[in-house]
Amino acid sequence: MKVRKYLRGSGRVLAFVFVASIIWLLFDMAALRISLSDVSGQQLKERLIREREFYKKQSMQALHPRRSFTHPARRAADLPGHQKAPGRLNDGDEGQRVKDELRKSLHLAKSNHSKFVDLKPGDAAAHENDNAPKQNSSVKKEAVNLYIYTGGTTAQKAVHKVDSKPNEKVKGVEDEILLKSTESRLTQTTTHRLPNQDVKVVNEKVAGMQVKVTDKNVLGANKQLKPAVNHPAEGNARVGTLAVKKSGVHTVLSLDVTNSPRDPKAVGQFGQAAVVAVHENSEVEKRWNEGHFNVYLSEKIPVDRAIPDTRPRKCAQSLIHDDLPSTSVIFCFVDEVWSTLLRSVHSVLNRSPPNLLKEIILVDDFSTKDYLKKQLDDYMSQFPKVRIIRLKERQGLIRARLAGAAVAKGEVLTFLDSHVECNVGWLEPLLERVYLDRKKVPCPVIEVISDKDLSYMLVDNFQRGIFKWPLVFGWSPVPADYIKKNNMKDTDPIKCPVMAGGLFSIDKKYFFELGSYDPGLDVWGGENMEISFKIWMCGGEIEIIPCSRVGHIFRGQNPYKFPKNRQKTVERNLARVAEVWLDEYKDLFYGHGYTHLLNKKVIDIGNLTEQIELRKHLKCQSFRWYLDNVYPDMNAPLVKADGLVYNRGLRKCLALQRDSLSFETCDLSKQSQHFNYTWMRNIRHRELCIAPQVQSNSFALQLCDSAKNEQRWLHKSSISPMAEHFSTEILRGMCLEGKLEGQALQLRACDSNNLFQKWQFTHYYAQ
Ligand code: UDP
Ligand code: MN
Repeated sequence: MKVRKYLRGSGRVLAFVFVASIIWLLFDMAALRISLSDVSGQQLKERLIREREFYKKQSMQALHPRRSFTHPARRAADLPGHQKAPGRLNDGDEGQRVKDELRKSLHLAKSNHSKFVDLKPGDAAAHENDNAPKQNSSVKKEAVNLYIYTGGTTAQKAVHKVDSKPNEKVKGVEDEILLKSTESRLTQTTTHRLPNQDVKVVNEKVAGMQVKVTDKNVLGANKQLKPAVNHPAEGNARVGTLAVKKSGVHTVLSLDVTNSPRDPKAVGQFGQAAVVAVHENSEVEKRWNEGHFNVYLSEKIPVDRAIPDTRPRKCAQSLIHDDLPSTSVIFCFVDEVWSTLLRSVHSVLNRSPPNLLKEIILVDDFSTKDYLKKQLDDYMSQFPKVRIIRLKERQGLIRARLAGAAVAKGEVLTFLDSHVECNVGWLEPLLERVYLDRKKVPCPVIEVISDKDLSYMLVDNFQRGIFKWPLVFGWSPVPADYIKKNNMKDTDPIKCPVMAGGLFSIDKKYFFELGSYDPGLDVWGGENMEISFKIWMCGGEIEIIPCSRVGHIFRGQNPYKFPKNRQKTVERNLARVAEVWLDEYKDLFYGHGYTHLLNKKVIDIGNLTEQIELRKHLKCQSFRWYLDNVYPDMNAPLVKADGLVYNRGLRKCLALQRDSLSFETCDLSKQSQHFNYTWMRNIRHRELCIAPQVQSNSFALQLCDSAKNEQRWLHKSSISPMAEHFSTEILRGMCLEGKLEGQALQLRACDSNNLFQKWQFTHYYAQ
């Protein structure tokens, strides 16, 4: 009766829910058990396969387009279930708010003349400062507005949580390559704060024009400013330059020049994602391979579209020295898509202070497309600052950049990829760093222009470029304790162990003092490692400058052909870098899947004498110094394992005395019992390595030779039952077995249960 009472009314419902939950739980547990047993059966098999693929994958990663696979924002766009790319401006309420903000300011820019410096129709300066796109001469003189944005008034944040894509991870790289929350910020301003110096510059450049500046107070205030910059770690004087100049400062200029008011409805305007109608999909597909991104869509987007100002808010108030060096911007390209090449050039023309932009050099690396010939010449002829250099044969990006550098007239070289969009205020913060110290090599934050919808996406703060073995470039967050310890602000320069490669500024003289790039590097790949090691080890510094931001289209593949085999080209480049710069650590490079490169018959890496001489001449630091000082969080053990070599069956340790092997009671204090298991997979005692003697089923002691395959033994390379064995690499299935009598070792068919085939080193440092 009592029970029935409880089961009346709402009690009955509760009881039902309770019983249902129990049943559900039971089902769940059963399902879990099934999947667990399934997993454990599968696990070993999968692991084995995974392990086998491990090194293969790692070396493939190194061959992948260097700035694509690891970028925190880039992959976020591709995640299943994450249709919305982080920071994309057309997404949701936040995106709408940002969009409205942009529209508002755009409208303001058009209507409120007192807040802008206007170049009146027909002004000669439009030619002088080169900063207006002028495809059509009747358009070009109609309305040329020099919009000057400085200081931030509106900032919006959009935080998106994004998970990583597990199946694309590679062991060793995975911890570092994180896809975390992405902070989107838009700072759009309508304030007009021109320091005196800038007005002068503008006046000189745009002589004869009406220049309206209304905010006198601001000018007055700026006059008081001392020549200090907002990087507390730096002094005011230029380091490493002969003359310490006294200079005034001004607030960073956030120029954005357009030839006519921007159409808010234009495709991709404000960096928004552009949508293609379903019936156009075939067109998209057809043109995709021209650039390995959405070429069809790109052609519809204005070549001088607006993009959101994504700088951290404080950047707009940065103080910049008035007498910065000028720069030559060098774009090298091969078969670049027309619209992206133009957008790259316009973004530089429109968003760089004219007095700092000496020239733009376009180096055509023997492109095959017709539109890159006369059509490009004609188009660029409207801009006196743009020069085109054409290479007579395909040189690859390294030598193409060198060709550009050789003719550059600016004091600083700024290298950019040919599918970028420089954001407002991008240039001065870079040049400021070079001004402060000519050995600083600043890189902008590389943001992401989606390859699919061409939207401008944002990346996490505090990201730096790093490498993993075997010289695989990646992004990794600055360690949190480092940020805390150094009280880092989001505007502070970030020490960067390796640059991504595509975008950076460098003092021209310093670039040549460093020996520029190794000209022996072919086509593409590895040059970012080379220049990074060279800069750091020979007295310079690489920094990421959060106040300078440039969008880049990350492609899944290189859209151009490699004259020789792509993989071999990149491998060869990397081997050159390893041989010149890595010292004893080059073993780690080869040991991560590149041992085949040690065989000179397989690959000819060319002559390195000059590069090695250069390193000596520059008195560069060792690679060890680089690891200790620049990239201390890098794990780089010189051997995979070392110490005693214990045989589990014999319960004794291997010893090498006077060229012969024996077993002894284990004793760590005895040098004769110390062996290394090297990255070449050698079992090594001083200069001697163990090699199998296949015919006699025994072994031989040979002088170690890293190129010799027969000296390689697999050990702990997988989590299989054979992990503790030493199996020979030249003859799979044969293992080293310990025995007490006669010769200490013999070669036998591998047997997972045989304890005499199981070995253990005292220390393991890597798998
Ligand atoms: N490039 C070149 N010659 C080459 C290969 C590349 O001029 O043989 C140019 C290319 O057009 C681009 C830059 O070098 O402007 C960097 O190449 P890419 O964008 O393919 O490198 P990623 O960004 O994928 O690392
Ligand atoms: Mn690129």
